[in-house]
Amino acid sequence: MSINEDLLPLFCDDSPSWGTPLVMAGPCSAESRQQVLDTAAALAAAGIRVFRAGVWKPRTKPGGFEGIGSPALEWLAEVKRTTGMLVATEVATERHVHEALHAGVDVIWLGARTSANPFAVQEIANVLATLPEARRNGLTVLVKNPVNPDLELWIGALERIHRAGVRRLGAIHRGFSSYGRHIYRNPPKWRIPIELHRRLPNLPIICDPSHIGGKRELIAPLSQQALDMNFNGLIVETHCTPDAALSDAAQQITPEVLAYTLSSLKVPTVGVTTESLGLLRQQIDRIDDDLLELLAKRMRVARDIGCYKKEHNMPVVQEGRYNDLMERRVRSAETLGMSTDFIRTILATIHEESVRQQLEICSDTAAGKTDADSAATGEKAAK
Ligand code: PEP
Ligand code: MN
Repeated sequence: MSINEDLLPLFCDDSPSWGTPLVMAGPCSAESRQQVLDTAAALAAAGIRVFRAGVWKPRTKPGGFEGIGSPALEWLAEVKRTTGMLVATEVATERHVHEALHAGVDVIWLGARTSANPFAVQEIANVLATLPEARRNGLTVLVKNPVNPDLELWIGALERIHRAGVRRLGAIHRGFSSYGRHIYRNPPKWRIPIELHRRLPNLPIICDPSHIGGKRELIAPLSQQALDMNFNGLIVETHCTPDAALSDAAQQITPEVLAYTLSSLKVPTVGVTTESLGLLRQQIDRIDDDLLELLAKRMRVARDIGCYKKEHNMPVVQEGRYNDLMERRVRSAETLGMSTDFIRTILATIHEESVRQQLEICSDTAAGKTDADSAATGEKAAK
């Protein structure tokens, strides 16, 4: 059964009061009973219905705050009893799942480091598969994207959990690790969750602006972007005294700031297609057709150049020419009001494909087949 076919709503009670977007909030880590109860009470008062808190914390280096562990589960149970919120925590091992379920946790999520490891995901899936069906159908499981930008690994983790019989299943997009300093702690690479949605349109996707941004001030703009891209919900790290947080202090906000942020978000209306939007889309379709024809024409010329280089025993990549081409195009693009980063990415991709095709032509494997043959059959040079 494909993930797309038999999903249930993310939470048992599917009343519209879950909110649009659906919001999960709570501290990065459960630190003390007081911190958990104070934060939860303020969130409940702000209308939040799902409380998150990390009990076991995967830290990059030893010696940091690794979470309170099992005793914190009792505080989550208390939040559930006193506020009526659903409670959510991260699990990374078989023992975590057993303990969380025993404590009455309603939502478990697999963290980014766990979903990058198929052994760990399978271990969790195996426990879930042994639960009585009714218990499993009452449980929500969310799978964060793996730390590395690998869509197949993310889908693989979702499939393992789904094959265990979990039907309240969703994904969390928390951005991807990268080396060096960036505006974002974990750059969002939006095209990956967008492609996930294209492949699994029924799977809810929740955006985690806290781990993407890594800073308080990025939470509102990232949340708005997520809504504009039709994400189903948000998970936001929220702490009663964020500056004193034992983990991820820089990205946590107070329940009051969260309430204000949510009230300032514009939720787009889906499915309204006016006549003028239809006309604009027709224009885009025509322009894309033109772009495709031009690209095909460019590739044919690139292959002719490849034949010439082969005949004259010239190297395929000629750095001087590449740099010159790139700089001139980037300057023209700038005068046309386009982003230079965008144009660099497009040109680099086009150039990479030209090089790949020219290498094919120059290699022995392409011998015996003329360039004209491939062009005439429209066959791609890559195998
Ligand atoms: C978290 O949500 O607190 C967490 C550890 O997230 P991630 O797995 O995305 O790093
Ligand atoms: Mn965190």
